[in-house]
Amino acid sequence: MTTTVPGIPAARGAIDALGPAELLHRLRARGSSAEDSPITHIEHVASRAGRTVPWPPWVQEPLRDAYGFQPWEHQATAASLAHAGQHVVLATGTASGKSLAYQMPALSRLLDDPRATVLYLSPAKALAADQLRALIRLGIDGVRPATYDGDTPREEREWVRQHSRFVLTNPDMLHHALLPGHARWAPFLRRLAYVVIDECHSYRGVFGSHVAHVLRRLRRLAAQYGSSPTFILASATSGDPADAAARLTGLPVTAVTEDASPRGAVTFALWEPPLLPPAVETVEQLAEAAAGAQSPRSGQTLHSGQSLHSGQSLHSGQSLHSGQSLHCGRSDADLLADAAGTRTRRSALSETADLLADAVVAGTRTLAFVRSRRGAEVVAAMARRSLDEAVPGLGDRVAAYRAGYLKEDRRAIEQALLSGDLLALASTNALELGVDLVGLDAVLICGYPGTRASLWQQAGRAGRAGGEALAVLVARDDPLDTYLVHHPEALFGRPVEATVLDPTNPYVLGPQLCCAAAEAPLRPADLSLFGAEAAREAVEALTRSGALRKRPTGWYWTHQGRPDVDLRGTGGAPVAVVESATGRLLGTVDQGSSHAMLHPGAVYLHQGTSHVVDDLDLDESVALVHAEEPEWSTHARDVTDLSVVAVREYVDAGPVGLFLGDVDVTSQVVSYQRRRLGSGEVIDTRPLDLPPRELRTVAVWFTISPRELQTAGVPQADIPGALHAAEHAAIGLLPLIATCDRWDIGGLSTANHADTECPTVFVYDGHPGGAGFAERAYGTATEWLRATREAIASCGCTTGCPSCVQSPKCGNGNNPLDKEKAISVLDAVQAALTAARP
Ligand SMILES: [Zn+2]
Ligand SMILES: [Zn+2]
Repeated sequence: MTTTVPGIPAARGAIDALGPAELLHRLRARGSSAEDSPITHIEHVASRAGRTVPWPPWVQEPLRDAYGFQPWEHQATAASLAHAGQHVVLATGTASGKSLAYQMPALSRLLDDPRATVLYLSPAKALAADQLRALIRLGIDGVRPATYDGDTPREEREWVRQHSRFVLTNPDMLHHALLPGHARWAPFLRRLAYVVIDECHSYRGVFGSHVAHVLRRLRRLAAQYGSSPTFILASATSGDPADAAARLTGLPVTAVTEDASPRGAVTFALWEPPLLPPAVETVEQLAEAAAGAQSPRSGQTLHSGQSLHSGQSLHSGQSLHSGQSLHCGRSDADLLADAAGTRTRRSALSETADLLADAVVAGTRTLAFVRSRRGAEVVAAMARRSLDEAVPGLGDRVAAYRAGYLKEDRRAIEQALLSGDLLALASTNALELGVDLVGLDAVLICGYPGTRASLWQQAGRAGRAGGEALAVLVARDDPLDTYLVHHPEALFGRPVEATVLDPTNPYVLGPQLCCAAAEAPLRPADLSLFGAEAAREAVEALTRSGALRKRPTGWYWTHQGRPDVDLRGTGGAPVAVVESATGRLLGTVDQGSSHAMLHPGAVYLHQGTSHVVDDLDLDESVALVHAEEPEWSTHARDVTDLSVVAVREYVDAGPVGLFLGDVDVTSQVVSYQRRRLGSGEVIDTRPLDLPPRELRTVAVWFTISPRELQTAGVPQADIPGALHAAEHAAIGLLPLIATCDRWDIGGLSTANHADTECPTVFVYDGHPGGAGFAERAYGTATEWLRATREAIASCGCTTGCPSCVQSPKCGNGNNPLDKEKAISVLDAVQAALTAARP
């Protein structure tokens, strides 16, 4: 397979010296006419001059002098709110100087009140270390900033407790050390003026729900010692930062979102790889499939023909009929090559490789972000090969870059890029971690990185001082990517994705109440802090089970030791993935996903390297693996039942119903398929002997009457395919409205559900007790389902492809799927919902 590189004069090896704008012009010339140009949109984001304001009058002279510059307007606004005692969240772009916004009021208070203290929480040690260095550089007397984390030596901890007035730590340390040992922190807590929560958007899902309670425990103890600190939060830009911050802290929070920091101009092109004739298969796709191969997880496969009542057995090999449920997870196009067996769009990796080669020919310094390490290496190799075919030696101007490189290698690459010896790099997002690359003209982003914040962070890598930069988002064949390249307003307009968490999750609330009771007896008055009614019910249940003991003054933890609560889980130890030969711990997988991801024979990817599972020991929570690169991928199949336990809320829209409620999902991984990489050909199906798993969680679902479907042009026979297709796309689009990844969601569609007695599509949180995703989907259902419909409709394929309704995780081979009828279903649902809930 020869990739043609437009514009390379084969006879000479000259490289042009084009700027980003000229490169874009050259790229636009791809395609024979405007209609078949892969560019779906070009957004010129103008440069912005920064807006500084005078220092707020309350900021002391020494502090102003220490900084030596004036604040941007948003920094001063947020700082002044916090200074006035209002809880505030600053949600602005990366590199917009959020640190200054909390340093100002915090340090100012420490200067004014020589006894006051500040607690700073960050999700990453590296970030806390950065902050510490910045504070030390400021050199404000008497602050004595110090980190307090797992690395702090025991003898230093005592000093930190007694002397530091600006303690930098993380939620785990707060949960495991600081709060349980609060008596020793009493002087610090008594004078606690501010709590700073940096990168607060990272506290989402189950982890976020736990952190929300850790913060409530902090607030309760601070209050008992007599302080009520002001919370200052820093967030990436998101849909509703005030609401997310309020859920996290349990306090009313004011959001500051207007960014007044300067920004360089960037031209942003959205790129949709062209459709290919069917059944095209190339060596390049095989390489790509190898790069993307990964096994699916539990809750994401489709099984054949079982009924919906728990306890009924599975009859394998039944044919499809209405009433059967289809059960799938969010699609991920990196993995698709081996899933459906057909691919109808040129892959994002191939497109990115070509664009990178074009950039080299143009002499434009370009960085391509690719999601997996193997993917980055494949992109670099493909670009090198096509350049060398055109002009031998030209391929040397391209390199792959990854976190695993030694420091010297990384420096050498950075140096070569700076000098111009190297013109193009393909990298994973390892570069986000503080590696400094300057002088880039263009950034190619291979696949939407999952959040707008990451997208802008990656795009922000391009742009020399004063110059215009180019960023290109290359869509992967995934419904969300398809939607985004056709709806630029979702990327450039008001953000809609929100950080979600659910502190009322009983699997989080119960254990957290035990932690709180172990720190200090829970009094009835404390319950409102932890969620009033839900907390009361939880405390009563804990008392009945003997976890807590009720006395006249409140509820007590009377057991030996402290409650053992993992902030990242909802019960069940994570399964450790261990390399047998070396005993090396490769990573952990939560229990919920372990059956599907780590069953014996499963192919498990770790940082782009593939391993095969030898043994899964569920009692010990360990999976033993060995490194191997087989020619197949593995796909677990499970049997799943879903029953409705309770409806929390609903919208009655006549023939359509929209519901939020509690459901029981029972699933059992029963077998797995091995499929040849690239072709997707099924090699064999092997049985597995794993116990069923039960999941009580939260789901959003819609029902639509068969009569209404008939009216909408969906006859009985087409209902399963229409609902199944709608379900796949709906799961794929959920990250548009709530930051989540494919591990977080499951789905099930059925032409007749025993509990709803109607054709129904369920989408549920993949964590016990729910994590807020289904709730967010319910709250924004109109927006979510409209986007789902749009993603399907704007895909140019004829009968459905991975860019719209196919899911690589579908254990039923994406069958049945009816793209056209899915649009009819969603239109009918949308129309009814809009009429009922405009
Ligand atoms: Zn399609
Ligand atoms: Zn499916």
